[in-house]
Amino acid sequence: MSLSGNARKAGVMGWPIGHSRSPALHGLAAALRALPILGFAGCNLTIPHKEPALTLVARLDEIAARVGAVNTIVVGADGSLEGRNTDGYGFIASLRAAQADWSARPGPATVIGAGGAARAIIVALLDEGVPEIRLVNRTGERAAALAAEFGPLIRPIAWTGRCAALDEAALLVNTTSQGMGGEAALDLELDRLPQRALVSDLVYSPLETPLLATARRRGNPVVDGLGMLLHQARPGFAAWFGVVPAVTPELRAAVLATMA
Ligand code: NAP
Repeated sequence: MSLSGNARKAGVMGWPIGHSRSPALHGLAAALRALPILGFAGCNLTIPHKEPALTLVARLDEIAARVGAVNTIVVGADGSLEGRNTDGYGFIASLRAAQADWSARPGPATVIGAGGAARAIIVALLDEGVPEIRLVNRTGERAAALAAEFGPLIRPIAWTGRCAALDEAALLVNTTSQGMGGEAALDLELDRLPQRALVSDLVYSPLETPLLATARRRGNPVVDGLGMLLHQARPGFAAWFGVVPAVTPELRAAVLATMA
């Protein structure tokens, strides 16, 4: 494929990003500065650039500022850079793609993990009106720190209490890397989880993690992490190219084919 001088371009920056199926770029600050010069409309950022980018852009949108991470860069008409975070949008959209009438309001959400991805999930669930987030993390201090930052609806729970944290939960989300290919399965018994609870895993390689397989077998509705990955890209694409792309079965299949 060849690009004319006027074609709008966008990219992705991260390292290692073999799982992102996109070419790597080094030197974040220099690369970001080069975006307008090279005619880029923007780019996506992934690990480890999401936090460092906070200080490298001219503006942050409100969500990126609250999450404390940038996953989407939009180049303005004047060449200045705006940092946005669409991970939470993508997460909620993936749940609604699975259950059109999904709402965060009916019951507590149990979130496993307190890293960068968990921050985006917490902000999104709070904005959706979740009544309580039970935040379980192997390192308890990290969950406690997020509870202090995000307020009283966040209840930090010790790792030893993770099974009891599933009582009456309406939503279970794995935001850890456990279950990813090459990693151990998430160490969590689902016995106490209501069968109607929606179970979501941010890990998308494999598409069906051990957690999702167990949940599906016991009758829980499940949502894999690929939906979030695809939906988080939509607002950025719309800002860059003026077109809101649809997440279709064909797009899912095409992305899955690159992961095989
Ligand atoms: P991160 O900031 O490094 O956080 C990792 C989390 O996993 C921490 O809570 C960590 O707990 C926990 N963890 C690691 N090893 C563990 C173990 N052996 N047992 C229990 N917990 C463990 O990573 P992140 O940026 O939040 O990303 C987390 C996952 O989400 C990754 O797999 C990433 O690919 C995925 N993700 C997917 C999407 C998507 O679009 N689907 C978007 C963003 C992220 P400690 O605090 O105790 O270390």
